[in-house]
Amino acid sequence: MPLPQPTSIFWFRRDLRLTDNVGLHHALTSTKSVLPLFIFDREILDKLDDKDDPRVTFIHQELLKLKAQLADWGSDIIIRYGKPKEIWPALLSEFPSIKAVYTNHDYEPYAIEREAAVGTILNASGVQLHTFKDQVIFERREILSGAGTPLSVFTPYARRWRDQFQEDMIAPTEIEPFKAHFCPIADALPVPSLASMGFTKNRLHFPPATVAASTLQHYGERRDLPAIEGTSRLSLHLRFGTISVRQAVRMGRANSDKWLSELIWREFYMQVLSNNPRIVTQSFRPEYDNIAWRNNPEEFEAWCTGNTGYPLVDAGMRQLNTTYWMHNRVRMVVASFLSKHLLIDWRWGEAYFAKKLIDFELASNNGGWQWASGSGTDAAPYFRVFNPTLQWQKFDPKSEYVRHFVPEFQAITYRPIVDHDFARKRALDVYGATLKKSA
Ligand code: FAD
Repeated sequence: MPLPQPTSIFWFRRDLRLTDNVGLHHALTSTKSVLPLFIFDREILDKLDDKDDPRVTFIHQELLKLKAQLADWGSDIIIRYGKPKEIWPALLSEFPSIKAVYTNHDYEPYAIEREAAVGTILNASGVQLHTFKDQVIFERREILSGAGTPLSVFTPYARRWRDQFQEDMIAPTEIEPFKAHFCPIADALPVPSLASMGFTKNRLHFPPATVAASTLQHYGERRDLPAIEGTSRLSLHLRFGTISVRQAVRMGRANSDKWLSELIWREFYMQVLSNNPRIVTQSFRPEYDNIAWRNNPEEFEAWCTGNTGYPLVDAGMRQLNTTYWMHNRVRMVVASFLSKHLLIDWRWGEAYFAKKLIDFELASNNGGWQWASGSGTDAAPYFRVFNPTLQWQKFDPKSEYVRHFVPEFQAITYRPIVDHDFARKRALDVYGATLKKSA
């Protein structure tokens, strides 16, 4: 039986929810018959080496939840696997009734390029593309300096973010009251299986999309202790939009200003990326691209596998390798260790994190790595070389975290691959010489 003809499509990307979704709200309130769509994009999936990648399982699982909710509302979601540039012309011929496509902004360079290409295809068929801000409170050039330029230092950015913030910016956008505007679909549409896309179902237990108010209330004292669950674990959900940023900001305002500040870091890095797309491959401070990296492959391997002989570094890398997540304090320590102690190009570490992290987010990952290596938005940071042993003593004083991931840490054979004082001096010399040359 031919499918009913929708008047518009809502294209889900990193906003996998049927509540408080700005673009979806506009689709439902502006058009009569909305059909949701998700594309498993081969341009992205083909680059994933790990066929057991938990992110693909997570997306698949969340789409099935959306599908079940839409079925309750008498509708469904089209789920396709392929290249968007090929899928869109096919959709337009299948659904000639479509007059408009709605979607939410994505600030990553690939997503911008993809949207431009799809916009051209739609335009050629007389279909309008409407896009909306959804994943941040302030985007692109909404927070500017007095001179009208984007801010590249966090503290003034955060001050302005708070000054410009208004309560109505976090009011939820309603979906359910407009559910009658979803396109009626009687027979369930097919869903590509993970196997048909070349993936397997990862057995990882995903953290919930909620956090206890008490966790946020104690966030200030507990956030730096990797042995306890002192942080929200919402990064996966903020990444894929299974929670809205407005809901997160409401929770931050109610429970913890410190936690709200972390959400502002997230927006800061997104605006830095959207205003400086070159940082995907280059240092924010160009002079840092001249550093004489050692790039020793054996040492990189030791770092990746958690065999550097520094307990906190090894525990962090083993946490990443086994759970696809790492505590923020430890992310800072392992990133500093790679780029300073081992003098390995921060982009190698960034790429390894991108491959592994369940919450991988281009803007925050790039921002975190450039911060740790000194090449990023901070003022004069290259002198900061974390001492991994002092960090361990301070933030894991009973060695609970280390013991869990590195049970052999007290063995006589467990030794550092490089001496801290030697490596620190070497890093300062190499960084210093490069920066002096470019001054
Ligand atoms: P919480 O402490 O509960 O924070 C709440 C939310 O605020 C997080 O979910 C996240 O969305 C945001 N947030 C917190 N800290 C930061 C930060 N420093 N920068 C930007 N946003 C932040 N975060 C990612 O989401 N994806 C990444 O790929 C990523 N890569 C990183 C790489 C390095 C080298 C470093 C130092 C940090 C990186 N971070 C990244 C930031 C941070 O480590 C994680 O957001 C955090 O550990 C996620 O755990 P949580 O949800 O429990 O965070």
